[in-house]
Amino acid sequence: MKSAMQAHSRLAPEQLLAAQQQVLEQVARAAPLFDTLTAISRYSEASIPTMMASILVFDDATQSLRKGGYGRLPATFAAAVDGMVPGPATGSCGTAAFRRERVISEDVRIDPLWGAFREFAASYGIQSAWSSPIIGSDGRLLGVFGMYYGDCRAPTADDLSFVDHFVHLAAVAIERHRVDTDRDHQATHDSLTGLGNRRKLERTVARLAADPATKPLCIAVLDLDHFKMHNENLGHRIADMLLQDVGARIAATAGVDDLPIRFGGDQFVLLTPSSNDSMHGRFSRLITSFEQPFEVDGIRVRLSVSAGIVEWNPHTTDFETGLYQAEQACIAAKERGRDRWVAFGAEDRQVVVERRRVGRVLADAIAAQKVLAHLQPIVDLATGAPVGFEMLARLVDPPSGVIMPSVFIPIAEESSLIDALGMSVFRSTCQLLASAGPQFDGLTANVNVSIRQLMRDGFPKAAAAAAAEFGVAPSRLCLEITESQWLDGDGPARSALLELKALGFRLALDDFGTGYASLSLLQSVPFDVVKIDRSFTASLGDNGRGTALCEAALRMAAACGMRVTAEGVETQEQADLLRVMGCQQGQGYLWSRPLPSADAIAWIEKRQAQPVY
Ligand code: C2E
Ligand code: MG
Ligand code: MG
Repeated sequence: MKSAMQAHSRLAPEQLLAAQQQVLEQVARAAPLFDTLTAISRYSEASIPTMMASILVFDDATQSLRKGGYGRLPATFAAAVDGMVPGPATGSCGTAAFRRERVISEDVRIDPLWGAFREFAASYGIQSAWSSPIIGSDGRLLGVFGMYYGDCRAPTADDLSFVDHFVHLAAVAIERHRVDTDRDHQATHDSLTGLGNRRKLERTVARLAADPATKPLCIAVLDLDHFKMHNENLGHRIADMLLQDVGARIAATAGVDDLPIRFGGDQFVLLTPSSNDSMHGRFSRLITSFEQPFEVDGIRVRLSVSAGIVEWNPHTTDFETGLYQAEQACIAAKERGRDRWVAFGAEDRQVVVERRRVGRVLADAIAAQKVLAHLQPIVDLATGAPVGFEMLARLVDPPSGVIMPSVFIPIAEESSLIDALGMSVFRSTCQLLASAGPQFDGLTANVNVSIRQLMRDGFPKAAAAAAAEFGVAPSRLCLEITESQWLDGDGPARSALLELKALGFRLALDDFGTGYASLSLLQSVPFDVVKIDRSFTASLGDNGRGTALCEAALRMAAACGMRVTAEGVETQEQADLLRVMGCQQGQGYLWSRPLPSADAIAWIEKRQAQPVY
């Protein structure tokens, strides 16, 4: 008995085997699916003279059949069939996909399944069609293998087993492709929101930058406002659901050419074709799409978003720079009150160049251990005797002189430099205390700690270890935390403060009155000292308002058992008023500006010998 292959094949069995091997090699190499399916179509056509083969691939997302591979059939046929949705009477391929079983149309001119497609079939000279669904090992539909003839014919059992041979090869190829695409999808998409992730962004950017035809684009950095607080209040599970909804809302406002990315945490990036005219409407729509409250797990949440946008030309600017500029614009949007978008402008470019320069000077100074700290004395308002001093970081930049903290601290905080900077000042403080004479024994050294630094895992232990290394008792160090940086939801920062307190450090709440967390903070963290911000000191005596605020702060601090230091005392009148009001300590130009350590030590020693009052 002749085998099916021998009966129909123009190819000798060894040729067929070689063909099969080639296809499997293509599959193993992960060649483009279209190429592999085209090769399978061609081999099947070579095996059965007069047959025309087509392989359609089922797309789960659209539930439609997409162009797979073709042999002799013209491209117009492929294009016409592409996107067909399987149905109960959609030619032999559509119907085979719909029924998930083989469909044999011996004569398409009379077969009712071909009703709507009869003319189409006739225009390609098709008279009979055999279609087999391609089913994966897990039973899912992968596609359809179609064979078309110019005459009317029915398959023999041998024909069918021969067809199955190619259907099986096609199944292997499509399944392998699916595994690859799924893996790729997982690697390039965020599992929570389903949006693209950083890797997707990197790949897209690399592709766009390599293509000379790419037109300028717009990079938008979107940052949810106060999300940290929502995260704490709602709990992580609901906050995650909220993020999913946010992702969906951003995706819904995105156009077909936009690439929405979850960049991390509550930050998203949108890459969109740039057109100056449409940007205004485009981003205003995005911001206002957040006006509608979110509803998660029965809870209504109002959220807003701030966005920074910049036009990016991949042929002239690297992506990192573009992204940095968009981030700067986003920071500006936050500073201007959040819930808005800000475009990065030409004048901002200068600012960015300068910020980057300062960032480099800072990084170099930290690496070379050349960050300086000036000391500003803190005095007892009743006696005028020094009780301690504050360490204030200074950055020496040979061409431009000294760079002040108001310039470099925000830059350090945006990057991880703040940790190294803070630790550098902390260590030099310990060193100073360790090497100073006995006259410093009763003095407290105040060191500023950024909230970001405080939030880092292990900061309290690292601080205790550094103090121990220099043999300095933690009680001689007072860590100042700025109130205005505080957010209500800063649980980890609060725990870090409690840990520092337990380790023996003193704590001060800096710039008191400039934030909005005062009451809850004072209640939940045992600060030793509250430092009234210098803006209140400055308005003392002016119109009674400053005085009222200072009095209120003093009463609150007293009720919590904390001492008060007034910052920015510049006149004797201010010092007198504060003393009368019951404020214990002062710091300001009246006594001394921040000084290099040798000068400050000399000042303190002189003052200890001879207090003014
Ligand atoms: P701060 O901790 O509130 O420090 C007091 C600031 O007020 C200092 O500014 C000081 O020079 C200034 N000042 C003191 N007395 C007077 C006065 O009588 N009049 C006026 N107009 N100003 C006075 P500085 O040194 O520029 O520091 C600014 C801020 O930078 C500090 O505010 C602090 O928040 C931050 N900072 C400084 N050093 C560090 C550091 O090592 N780490 C961190 N995280 N922040 C630091
Ligand atoms: Mg301070
Ligand atoms: Mg302050």
